Amino acid sequence: TIELKKVTKEFKSTKVIDQLDLEVAAGEFLVLLGPSGCGKSTTLRMIAGLETASDGEVLIDGDDLKKKASDGHTIAMVFQDYALYPNMTVYQNLEYALKVHKVAKDERQKRLTSILETLNLSDYKDRLPSELSGGQKQRVALGRGMAKKSKIFLLDEPLSNIDVQLREKARDEIQSLHDKNKQTIVYVTHDQLEAMALGDRIAVMNDGIIQMIDTPENIYKNPTNLFVAKFIGTPQ
Ligand code: ATP
Ligand code: MG
Repeated sequence: TIELKKVTKEFKSTKVIDQLDLEVAAGEFLVLLGPSGCGKSTTLRMIAGLETASDGEVLIDGDDLKKKASDGHTIAMVFQDYALYPNMTVYQNLEYALKVHKVAKDERQKRLTSILETLNLSDYKDRLPSELSGGQKQRVALGRGMAKKSKIFLLDEPLSNIDVQLREKARDEIQSLHDKNKQTIVYVTHDQLEAMALGDRIAVMNDGIIQMIDTPENIYKNPTNLFVAKFIGTPQ
């Protein structure tokens, strides 16, 4: 379970997250949906322990975040800007966290071969990130997150640069990982169709506030305000 209690985040006295309450149940697939600049990445980074809240609490399974985040097993994150290790090959990028967490070599190979295949990266496994296109880098970032099979999986616009055909395949793979490994997922996107397709629930964000959080169906049918209706595409 992930809990944010009255979380506020300020950057140099500008409030970008304002008293945010959010609870994500174990095994839930939650989508954070909202326009550019509304605070999606900041929220995700606070859950990952990469930003500290200016006020309020972030709890993972009832514990203060720092304990959990530092063990490295609990959380995997796919970054919006990929954050690949520049001096490691694709394969080494995927393998690194598994090595650190002492996953046996044959298990590593098994997982990574399958991920490379799913994400059409097998031919690129010996390249450096600088030798890849944007979409290829994004697939490596996604694959690296998938490989960990962590309890909590945070994804920040993981498909934004991937072409349509592969996007569906990658989306199915994220869904099936969630089903198989009972992962708790927080998935950031600004694409309402993606949100509707993936989320058990969707949190619609604007200006550092959650405007509505509910199932895709309820959000579509009964949006609480005009912003939600417009953003989710409910016919007026
Ligand atoms: P996008 O969809 O474009 O990725 P987002 O919803 O992820 O947007 P955030 O990256 O969370 O938005 O940013 C929220 C607000 O906080 C923005 O106004 C941004 O300019 C500001 N912000 C984010 N990080 C910092 C920082 N390190 N220093 C100052 N301001 C920041
Ligand atoms: Mg962002």
